[in-house]
Amino acid sequence: MKPIRVVVIGGGFAAVQFAKTLRAKLRPSDCEILLFNRENHMVFHPLLADVAGASINVDAAAAPLRQMLPGVGCRTERVERIDLSASEIEYDEGNGVRTRLHYDHVVLACGADSNLGIIPGMTEHAFAFKVMRDAIDLRQHVVRQMEHAEATTDPERRRWFLHFIIVGAGFSGVEVAGELNELVRSSTRFYRNFREEDVVVTMVHSQDQILPEVAPTLRDFARKKMEKAGVTIVLNSRAVAATHEGVELKDGRKLLGATIVCTIGTTVSSLVQSLHVPKEKGRIRTTPEMRIEGQTNAWALGDCALIINDFDKKPSPTTGQFAERQGRQAARNLVRFLHGEPTKPFSFKALGQLCSIGGYSAVAEMFGMRFSGFLAWFMWRGVYLFKLPTWSRRCKVALDWAWDVLFPRDLSFLSTDATLNVTHAYYLPGDYIHRQGELARTFCIIDEGEVEALKVTPPDPEPKIVAVLSKGDFFGEATLLGDHPHETSVRARTVVRLTQIGSGLFTQLAGASTPLRDLLSRTLTRRSGDFWRRLPLAEALLSDEPLASLLDPIPDKALAKDTTLADAVLALNENAAGELLILDEKQRLWGTLDRNDLYDMIARIAIIPPEERGDLTRRKLSDLLPPNPVYVALDDSILVATTTMLDHGISWLPVVRTKDDLQPVGCLRGANVGSRLIQKISQGESAHAHAHAQTAS
Ligand SMILES: Cc1cc2nc3c(=O)[nH]c(=O)nc-3n(C[C@H](O)[C@H](O)[C@H](O)COP(=O)(O)OP(=O)(O)OC[C@H]3O[C@@H](n4cnc5c(N)ncnc54)[C@H](O)[C@@H]3O)c2cc1C
Repeated sequence: MKPIRVVVIGGGFAAVQFAKTLRAKLRPSDCEILLFNRENHMVFHPLLADVAGASINVDAAAAPLRQMLPGVGCRTERVERIDLSASEIEYDEGNGVRTRLHYDHVVLACGADSNLGIIPGMTEHAFAFKVMRDAIDLRQHVVRQMEHAEATTDPERRRWFLHFIIVGAGFSGVEVAGELNELVRSSTRFYRNFREEDVVVTMVHSQDQILPEVAPTLRDFARKKMEKAGVTIVLNSRAVAATHEGVELKDGRKLLGATIVCTIGTTVSSLVQSLHVPKEKGRIRTTPEMRIEGQTNAWALGDCALIINDFDKKPSPTTGQFAERQGRQAARNLVRFLHGEPTKPFSFKALGQLCSIGGYSAVAEMFGMRFSGFLAWFMWRGVYLFKLPTWSRRCKVALDWAWDVLFPRDLSFLSTDATLNVTHAYYLPGDYIHRQGELARTFCIIDEGEVEALKVTPPDPEPKIVAVLSKGDFFGEATLLGDHPHETSVRARTVVRLTQIGSGLFTQLAGASTPLRDLLSRTLTRRSGDFWRRLPLAEALLSDEPLASLLDPIPDKALAKDTTLADAVLALNENAAGELLILDEKQRLWGTLDRNDLYDMIARIAIIPPEERGDLTRRKLSDLLPPNPVYVALDDSILVATTTMLDHGISWLPVVRTKDDLQPVGCLRGANVGSRLIQKISQGESAHAHAHAQTAS
């Protein structure tokens, strides 16, 4: 008879225990087990902090699934979809081809993903702490900061390099703070230009105590011990934003540091999100025996499932301890089900909790007893050593730990070429992105928000705003292509998100792509064609002129976001100037529309396949246009407005009340600015002639 096929999705604590137990209970001729995990190894999360702190080698905390699970088919394809009604999974073969595979039973054990998006700027500037890559990258980064601190001659910059900020003081936050503190402080003796006193490790936590999960005496012990070891603990404080400079707290304080680790925020995986099954807080609801509610051949275990523990009738916590037990029992239940026997509800009494706090110290609650200090640390190491999945791992980790006690931690790191990276950055209003005179490192594209370019022209020490750029605009190209320092500073006007392309990669792209080179050279010509630079007289003549004095009224008829394309075309035809504003529900500026936009829109629609276009004339503007108005505020200068028009190659510009209040108050036309300039020049000429005549007489 053909063996039944059991597909397991995941390769963590739950999936591995499940596959191991099932393999031990059913012969390969009766049951084929296929385990799909994105990586070809199991990550032993409790040891990630040790990897980041360089107290164990990277591979000791990652066990290869193939070697751990003999008799199980291990696959590294990512499962994209589960079709529960057809009993099929769909995965990408790795070349973009989607393949479907039939199963008799499917087991979801795909854990949870980290979600840095819960705090603005964390995705761009913080390290997550969930997968092996996070720990490896963090370790490399920390050692690199020490090298930077050694190299810099600026004491303020050195302090910034040596400040390590950890957000969250649960188990993983405490463990990573303890390990980083140990790594950096114990390594200072190998550097000449800074000492242990220069190192700051700060842990930020929103509650009034760290480690809320453990007994008060143990968390007090952990806090005091960590503070004594040099960790600064900031309690009752919530991180509200992260930027290149550091972390901003809810009370307005800013922690300036080059390293941010975010240990809070998880989300269910996209595979779980796409499943239409009963869920609670994103986790899949199961029956007590761990089958997905309403399904006969689909099971869910570990962090992705919400399983009521029959022992205390509460939802199981998301820990490795529980995931392992669920894996074991779900496999036994499947065997019972296949043999026609009754299944058993999941029931487990937690054994205890262990948390390392750095400096050969830990806190532990085991079998109702509490331990702290070196004894707890010894237990922590003993328990985890024993829990490691294979004997080869146990030996490796034991050797690493013994090495760590006897010898200093490894400070080597792989140097990578940062100029070839693409990164993302988040800035708060007022933050500088680069300063005039600095050398360019990146080409920046604005994903969200607005920036202003500021220029200091000696002898006047006051910077003047010379341009405003917004979503879709870019900057940095002139400096990179010309290989000279920035001629302006660029500062965030609003919250700004950027995509930054390293100088090396940018030069390669600009060299290889003709359309990109053309676009850049057109922009360069436009920007360097800025007549203020060529005609300082014009700048002097218009710098005192208020923007309001040149405004035309806003067009009578404005469009709404949901105006249809047909109505927009009619309105544009009726409008003599051929320029219309688009407003949102609160009558704020949402976009602009002129004939050129219309042609662009039609060109974009033309490439959509006819069957997907729908009724063209009834399509709304908000579906067809990005909300990307180019505008200036009343308090901007004419100089800024003109440069903005030149920058975007446009001849008119809406003007709003303020940057925070996008109510349109008028339109500025290049032609008006030009005629006022000519008028001023001729006034200046006649005044000059008059003065000359008087002197002569
Ligand atoms: C830093 C840290 C320290 C921790 N310390 C402890 C501790 O000391 N004690 C403790 O009990 N618990 C600890 N935990 C929690 C524990 O690690 C988790 O509860 C446990 O890993 C959950 O196991 P799991 O099998 O459900 O998921 P995971 O171990 O997260 O495994 C899920 C796997 O599924 C894979 N996957 C996801 N989607 C797909 C897909 N579509 N296709 C293919 N594969 C997919 C993932 O790549 C991953 O390998 C810690 C967690 C972290 C992050």
